Amino acid sequence: MARKDSGEKKPRLDKGSMQKLKGIFRFMAPYKGSFTLGLISLFFSSTVLLAFPYLTGSLIDTAQGQSKIPWLSDLTHVGLALMGVLLVQSIFSFARVYFFAVVNENAMADLRRELYRKFMSLPMSFYDKNRSGELFSRITADVAVLQDTFSTTLAELIRQVATLVLGVAILFATNPKLTLFMILTFPLLIVVAIVFGKFIRKLSKGTQDALAKANIVVEETLQSIGTVKTFANEDYEVKRYSSTLDKVVGIALKSATFKGAFISFIIFVLFGGIVGVLWYGSYLVSQGSITVGDLTSFVLYTMFIGGSIGGLGDIYGAIQKAVGATERVQEILEAESEHEINKEEIPRLEGNITLKDVRFAYPTRSELEVLKGVNLEINKGEKVALVGKSGGGKSTIAHLLQRFYEINSGDLIIDGKSAKDFNLIGYRKHVGVVPQEVLLFGGTIAENIAYGNPEASQQEIVEAAKKANALEFIESFPEGFETLVGERGVKLSGGQRQRIAIARAILKDPAILILDEATSALDIESEKQVQEALETLMEGRTSLIIAHRLSTIRNADKIAVLEEGTVKEIGKHDELIADSDGSYAKLIQLQEF
Ligand code: ADP
Repeated sequence: MARKDSGEKKPRLDKGSMQKLKGIFRFMAPYKGSFTLGLISLFFSSTVLLAFPYLTGSLIDTAQGQSKIPWLSDLTHVGLALMGVLLVQSIFSFARVYFFAVVNENAMADLRRELYRKFMSLPMSFYDKNRSGELFSRITADVAVLQDTFSTTLAELIRQVATLVLGVAILFATNPKLTLFMILTFPLLIVVAIVFGKFIRKLSKGTQDALAKANIVVEETLQSIGTVKTFANEDYEVKRYSSTLDKVVGIALKSATFKGAFISFIIFVLFGGIVGVLWYGSYLVSQGSITVGDLTSFVLYTMFIGGSIGGLGDIYGAIQKAVGATERVQEILEAESEHEINKEEIPRLEGNITLKDVRFAYPTRSELEVLKGVNLEINKGEKVALVGKSGGGKSTIAHLLQRFYEINSGDLIIDGKSAKDFNLIGYRKHVGVVPQEVLLFGGTIAENIAYGNPEASQQEIVEAAKKANALEFIESFPEGFETLVGERGVKLSGGQRQRIAIARAILKDPAILILDEATSALDIESEKQVQEALETLMEGRTSLIIAHRLSTIRNADKIAVLEEGTVKEIGKHDELIADSDGSYAKLIQLQEF
């Protein structure tokens, strides 16, 4: 199956991806007001801090009686001015964090809502193509990356650029010569940052990939721990995991070596620049062309600027990561929905079903035509058993009846109208399913039954449970309907889960019913209870039963035998069995359904 592993794609900061990043900005649009306040606070909190080196220099000059500005001629004044700068900076920093959080938290919650809404509306074919674990990570990990980007990275980017530009401007204004001297180190820093940065990112990705592989080993092994034990392969698994970890360590150490070299180089160049400034600056001080205070503020500005350059390197990496996350999120948002989530009601369906020359191949396996012209007519209220070899397309017909997939050619006609013309959600409300393997959600029994109709009253839930022969076992639990089921709740037996599913279907009250009989036999008592409940459920509804039991088949109004992608035979049990060479007779003989 062709999988689109966009996670592997290397994000690039080209025009298209910036366009996509913009697509995420639209989620911030409703919070423009807070965003503007955040930007203003950010501007002040960053720029006010630039007065800090200047005032520190003034403090030293004032102490030496060399103050150049009259109102800073007193040490207390300079001290107070410094405290004032810090205070204003703190207030604006607080405001910046708060306002950006308002924008970010709301925008990201909106994005998650939209993604989830999209997940609900995507067709089954989408879920055939994509692994659920990977989809899950889009709404969790990818959105978390974006959250980081918009809360810190963006603010940091603006802050660092402002510091850099304003810092250099201030330096030029105070002493152009010294500034040029310092700026000489920039090209070296930038070139090294770009070259090394690229290399290090590649190695980090290698580490992450190796770690992901190691994690997959754990995940898969834990999922099939029983098999590991059966084959007594514990040691083999430990070795397998251990060797994947060795690879992680190998790549991580290589990456760390380069990172270490990179960091020490940057520190060397930065501090080399500062030493140079100190050295040349001290010379200027000795010549009397600048004061000690000037030199101090100069060195402090240089440190600020150096910090900004270092910070910008990190930001580049973070933005690249954000573009990757954006692409993955956008891919979901742009995927085609099977419907808009609107719940146009279809008040009633009679339940007359006609499949007319239905041809169908799954979108993920277009070369395999599963249905090759199926014709089948089921009248309102009839019970039709669908039989045929495993893999013959019985479940596929059930999928098409629920309109999980588009039919390639032919038509599904319900009450004389093509099902395509019905609103999808409205239509599905009239189709109920009791599946082979019933999945219960984590929650109470009552909640699980009410899944059939979330608006049902407690009394209706109890009533449905009663009709589904489930009341007795539910009441045998100390907590009754409030008993927790699902992964961390009480484990229900197969027969009990089926009766919950039947109660669900009763609450849903559909005109059309699809029953997928369990292949594994229940114990006789459960079987009887489930059978009775199913009879109650089927009353007055059109039922299509994917049948595995002879008793069900015998009781059906019609039996349709599916073979080679078509309905080969149709009729009652006695009629079909009469033809001893027929497909049905052979199926029954071999018990192959
Ligand atoms: P049955 O219910 O009669 O056992 P199915 O309808 O499940 O048969 O399967 C019919 C064929 O369609 C099989 O070859 C099966 O592998 C294929 N198939 C079933 N579901 C899918 C799917 N979601 N994607 C691709 N192929 C599928």
